[in-house]
Amino acid sequence: MPGFEVFGAEERKQVNDVLETGVLMRYGFDGMRNNHWKAKEFETAFAQRMQSNYCQLVSSGTAALTVALAAAGIGAGDEVIMPTFTFVASFESILMLGAVPVLVDIDDTLTLDPKAVEAAITPKTKCVMPVHMCGSMADLQALKDICDTHGLLLLEDACQAIGGTYQGKPLGSYGDLGCFSFDYVKTITCGEGGGVITNSEKYKLNADHYQDHGHDHIGNDRGAETHPFLGYNFRISEMNAAVGLAQLDKLDGILRTQERNYTIVREALSEIDGVTFRRVPEGGVENYSFVNFFLPSESFAQKAHKALADAGVDACFYWYKNNWHYINGWEHLRDQNSLGPLSSEIKSQMQDLNKADFSKSDAWMGRTVSSLVKIGWTETQVRERAEAMKKAIASVL
Ligand SMILES: *Cc1c(COP(=O)(O)O)cnc(C)c1O
Repeated sequence: MPGFEVFGAEERKQVNDVLETGVLMRYGFDGMRNNHWKAKEFETAFAQRMQSNYCQLVSSGTAALTVALAAAGIGAGDEVIMPTFTFVASFESILMLGAVPVLVDIDDTLTLDPKAVEAAITPKTKCVMPVHMCGSMADLQALKDICDTHGLLLLEDACQAIGGTYQGKPLGSYGDLGCFSFDYVKTITCGEGGGVITNSEKYKLNADHYQDHGHDHIGNDRGAETHPFLGYNFRISEMNAAVGLAQLDKLDGILRTQERNYTIVREALSEIDGVTFRRVPEGGVENYSFVNFFLPSESFAQKAHKALADAGVDACFYWYKNNWHYINGWEHLRDQNSLGPLSSEIKSQMQDLNKADFSKSDAWMGRTVSSLVKIGWTETQVRERAEAMKKAIASVL
């Protein structure tokens, strides 16, 4: 997955354009910038690549989620349905706005279970946030049907699945809003950065203002601009955007390499009796950044994960026992352990996560092991890795 593996002359050239003018900010300084508008250029190119009308770049994927929710008018007491398996950024962005994260089970897609989503809807629900974890997607058709029936917003977190598609559409472009991260370990990176895509002119304008202190960006005198509503600072710098522009050009090549490497690993693992694979919803195409597979039981999964490490196979993850990606590791969220007091809406509305029953999620996550798919591996290296994985896993079954 990591785009830093293919960092090179193209990124240096883009950054040098910015360094030569010294204008590190994406707005203003028109006369000094020698016509370089890296953030704007990235936004135009990214929106086009993602078949969406608009893109708003921001400072991180977490900022993208926050800005997307804010742009759609989500605020205090609004409930946002999110999965038990995701990165902590999901609930961070929701809590940031005073909104209430409602955690629900995942299924064998390792993403939101549509039945669990439906069961969690209350009069306060405003948004469903599927997270396309580890390269593959949620059942977007089922989720969209639910959102349409109940008048809810569908916000896709596509941070780990950039370039994957569903019903022919790029992931992130199917819902009302889609979010991406370009942090250092994502498929394409700009060091730190993120993006929101949408077809809604209103959401785009809201996002544009919100991520820059409410600036309306009308005219060319920043100081004289007005602020129609309260905002914040989630801006990306021109330097980071420049790196992202070079990386975006490499995305399709990265996806092809990932697919080749993924296929070699998957074919090898398919030969092991007892190994099965995560379900990809009909109409979906992965971005091939991870191979995700199930062992027959939690104990077999733990043994397989250990055997892989002992055999020197790197970058294999057992999320079930991980601090950052599964509810089991989030005692700070479960105990509402924040630095300052949380808002009364959050305190009164949040489910008791220490008592909630996520046994359905446990049943899938306990059995899941994921192997990262690197871009830099040669075909010979992937074949060697695939054989080593096969041997290690077979040895514990
Ligand atoms: C990386 C990631 C984010 C957050 O992105 P940052 O740029 O690191 O803030 C959000 N959601 C998911 C699923 C991610 O993997």
